[in-house]
Amino acid sequence: MPAETGEPLVVSVLATVCDRLLASEARFDALDRAIGDGDHGQNLSRAARRLEEIRDQLVLLPLPQLMQRAGKEIVMSVGGASGPLYGTLLLEIGKALPPGPRLEDWARAFAGGVEAVARRGRAAEGDKTMLDVLTPAARALQTHAGGEMESALKAMSAAALAALEASRPLRARRGRAAFVGERSIGADDPGAVSSLVCLCTIVETLSEIRS
Ligand code: ADP
Ligand code: MG
Repeated sequence: MPAETGEPLVVSVLATVCDRLLASEARFDALDRAIGDGDHGQNLSRAARRLEEIRDQLVLLPLPQLMQRAGKEIVMSVGGASGPLYGTLLLEIGKALPPGPRLEDWARAFAGGVEAVARRGRAAEGDKTMLDVLTPAARALQTHAGGEMESALKAMSAAALAALEASRPLRARRGRAAFVGERSIGADDPGAVSSLVCLCTIVETLSEIRS
């Protein structure tokens, strides 16, 4: 996201992501019913509604503080594994962002946020969690962040989609899905899908705004 556009753009992208999460509640719950406890959509809806409630406050904050506040609110208001993990992601991105970040700064902050999620979840790429999508997506953005924004964002969403597909045949080793054993093989991890949905929504929204 370019520096010159500032916080209102980030708040509006965040709002679009929240709308998409609310619209995807049933789909995420269904994925989680197959290999977990069926609440992933409800958890993310709670996060989305909380961010909507505080939107008027978020828009007043400088970008790094805005991201930290959004992350803290999610950590505090959302139960389940995904609330603290997504909250940590936003919080750590906020901590790492300079004011007026360039694409390279976003890429570095995103990669650092993903590492913080891995530490908090004691999980790694290949364990069949949200990290299976977030880690390759962050890597792709860092690789392409020196180039044109449009192609860097496309590279990120393409990497995220390929990563979801690559994780499908894996057996889950972290989270509730680890308890269903063999049954997780061939199923999509709910958090991996919600990560892909968030990233694709960000990329689509930014390219609509810029076109
Ligand atoms: P819960 O598992 O507590 O019901 P959710 O259903 O909201 O929480 O979220 C489940 C998702 O969280 C999983 O699909 C997975 O992507 C992610 N997840 C669970 N545990 C971990 C972990 N230790 N590290 C990374 N991601 C995890
Ligand atoms: Mg669940």
